This record gives sequence, structure tokens and C-alpha cells, in this order.
Amino acid sequence: MKVAYIGAGPMALFSAHYLLSNKADIQVHIYEKTSKIGRKIYSSGNGRGNISNINVAPQKYNHPDFVSSALRFTPIDFINYLQQNGILTTIDEEGRVYPYGEAAAIIGDWLRDDLLAKKVVFHLDTEVISVTPYKSGYQINNDEYFDVVVFATGSRAGIPQNQVSYGMSSILKTLKLKTVELIPTLASIGVKQKLNPIDGRRLKAKVSLVIDQEPAYTTKGEVLFRADALSGIAIFECSSILTWKRIEKIGNAYIELDLLPDVKDSELTSFISQAKKQAGTEYLRGLFHPDVAHFLSRHVILKPDSKDIAYQLKHWRLLVDLGYVAENNQVFSGGLAIEEIDSHTLQLKRFPHLFAGGEMVDVDGLCGGYNLHWAWSSGVLIAKSISNI
Ligand SMILES: Cc1cc2nc3c(=O)[nH]c(=O)nc-3n(C[C@H](O)[C@H](O)[C@H](O)COP(=O)(O)OP(=O)(O)OC[C@H]3O[C@@H](n4cnc5c(N)ncnc54)[C@H](O)[C@@H]3O)c2cc1C
Repeated sequence: MKVAYIGAGPMALFSAHYLLSNKADIQVHIYEKTSKIGRKIYSSGNGRGNISNINVAPQKYNHPDFVSSALRFTPIDFINYLQQNGILTTIDEEGRVYPYGEAAAIIGDWLRDDLLAKKVVFHLDTEVISVTPYKSGYQINNDEYFDVVVFATGSRAGIPQNQVSYGMSSILKTLKLKTVELIPTLASIGVKQKLNPIDGRRLKAKVSLVIDQEPAYTTKGEVLFRADALSGIAIFECSSILTWKRIEKIGNAYIELDLLPDVKDSELTSFISQAKKQAGTEYLRGLFHPDVAHFLSRHVILKPDSKDIAYQLKHWRLLVDLGYVAENNQVFSGGLAIEEIDSHTLQLKRFPHLFAGGEMVDVDGLCGGYNLHWAWSSGVLIAKSISNI
């Protein structure tokens, strides 16, 4: 049997590895439009490789029912699998899984070298622009014939604009496959307030997302201020929820920041009343970076009573700019519609022997290893389905 993967991202690499480890008599080809194998693996987790999360569960994704069968390959399965292959992992307090050596390259290099050793044929710098049903399989670029084809084209997130191409979208159009609009996610959230004086400042906060007056999500973590946006891991998490709800059309949303989540209201009130006596108008200087303290006291704290100040520091509301287009997104929500795919096999319902997984499918998860875990686990399910043909 001849199998072609379109795209050399984590989904395709792990799927091909899993397939060949269990069934060596299959001939695998991987087409990749760039010259790099597994590019995004290397940039994950800022180069440390946040490869999974121990808290993976269907509810952490936009389509919980659809992902549940693929998620049978759990983070523990993945950790054990890596260990059997000589790679040790470590887990941080948020459940994020990293290679013990804290280098994403450990995973990328392992998969690349393993597939080369297994005699996989890589067609690098080769964009696939057509997939045509032919006999019981498919012809790629009107050239080579394959019994099985796997769509593994991911998304353009993290790829410089001048290197983006649209070969896959024209293939989906030609095959008349339904797609869902792509929206950047795991990204900054635009806000209406101007934050120029604190652009680049960071702090740890409790972050709540409120959509149409309903609490939608709460988390704790680093917030990075930008002139017209909020960024950082906690904000990325909120951006997923905002994206998933935005598809249902929302009226308004705000982010509420508790800037001192570990200090109780009563303690903060008495601390501030004492600080006011000692430092006058600079009463926030013992709590925040000077730029942040200055900005808060001039632009955020509008009621000067110390009880109100404590409340305002713990409930700073920033109105979300729903028209803001994030550019630094790690993932796109949307892609090949899940209605087109059998969730038990990841085979396309209308095209036998054609499979799809990873980010090119309309599946995305929260920040913290969930998206790579979807890539690995959907890859395993596809490998198992191909083995059963
Ligand atoms: C900067 C950054 C950091 C990230 N960090 C994390 C993290 O720490 N943890 C986490 O879980 N997730 C992270 N992600 C998300 C994660 O990397 C992706 O969800 C994951 O890589 C998706 O895997 P994939 O194999 O489906 O697609 P991709 O990794 O997008 O790979 C698809 C491949 O297909 C190729 N391709 C596309 N079209 C064609 C075509 N027509 N012909 C031939 N080749 C084609 C592309 O060039 C690409 O190499 C990060 C993403 C970015 C951008």
C-alpha cells in the first residue's frame, strides 16, 4: 500500500511514525511545501516544546464530542510512548508536558531521523495543489498515484505572510468539501482602552472573560499589556473561548483583571489606606512597576476612597475590541468542517481512503499543549485506521 501525507507537520510525522512502527510494509511519502520538516514543533513552547498537557479532555476543545474518539490516545499514553522511545518528559504545575531536556528539537529531530531511517520519501519544497480521485485511490499533482492520502496541512499560523500559499483551500474547493471560516486564536485580545504608557509591561493577574454579561472563563496567569491589546498565556486562553463564541455572534465582551489575586480585599484596603498616609498620590508604588502604578492611579482609579481603590484594582474592566485582528496567533480556529469527517476513523465521509487530522480540521484547543496533543492523537487514530484497510 502507498500512503501520502500532505504536509510535514507534527500530525503527519507522528502518524507516519506510528503507522510504520506497527506495519513496516507500507510505502509512505510526505509532501511538504517548505524545505523544513516539522517546523512548528521546533517553535512550540518558545523552543522548550510544550508538547501536551496532562489535563487534556474533550471540553478543552471547540468540538468536544467530535474529538473524544481521537483523544483515546491520552497524554499518559503519549508520555509512556515517548519513554519507550528513549525520551523522558517533565510536567509543570499547570499540567504542561515538556521533553525533560526542555528542547522542542528533541521531538522534532527524533521524528525526522526515525522517518528517514524508515525510508519515508520526503518531497520537500513541493506544494500539493491537486488531489484527484483516481481508481480506488488518489493522484497527487496529476502525477503520482496513492492508495491512501492524508490531509495534514495545518494552518498558516506562525508563517510569514510572504510564505503563505493557498494550495489546500483550492483542493478543498475542488472536492466540494465544506469549510469553516478561519479565525486567529491563541492570540492577543484587542481592547478599547489605550494602554500606550504601559505597553510591554507584564504582571500576574486573575483574568475573567465576560461575554454578553455572562461569565465565560476565568484563569490566572501572566498578562502582557500592549498599546491597544492584552497578551500573555492567560489572555491566549480567553481568546480561544472568545473565538468559539464569536462564531455564534456575540454582542459585547470585557476582560476583568484582578491585579492582586493573592491579596484579600480587606488586607488590600488597609494596606492602601496606610500607603496613602505614607506616600500620598504615589500610594501604588509599593505594589506595581512604576509605569503601571502611575498609569493605574491616573487612568484607572477614578474613585479615590481606599475601599474603592482596592475594589478597582481587583475588578479592572477592559472592553474587548471585537474588530481587532490579531497577528501573533499560534493557531487558527476553523478549517475542514467536522461534518465531513467520521470521528471514529478520521476518514472523510464522502471520500474513502482520504483522511484529515491536526489543525487543518476545524478543531482547536486551549493554550498549553492541547493543540499539539490533538496533532499527535489524531495522527495515531489515522495510523490505526490506515492499518485496518
Ligand atoms: C509560534 C507557535 C508556537 C506554538 N506553540 C505551541 C505549544 O507550545 N503547544 C501546542 O500544543 N501548540 C503550539 N502551537 C500550535 C501547534 O504548533 C499546531 O497546532 C500544530 O503544529 C499543528 O500541527 P499540524 O501537523 O496539524 O500542522 P502544521 O504544524 O501547521 O504543519 C502543516 C505542514 O503542512 C505544510 N503544508 C501546508 N499546505 C501544504 C500543501 N498544499 N502542500 C504541501 N505542504 C503543505 C506546511 O508547510 C506545514 O509544514 C504553536 C504554534 C505556533 C505558530
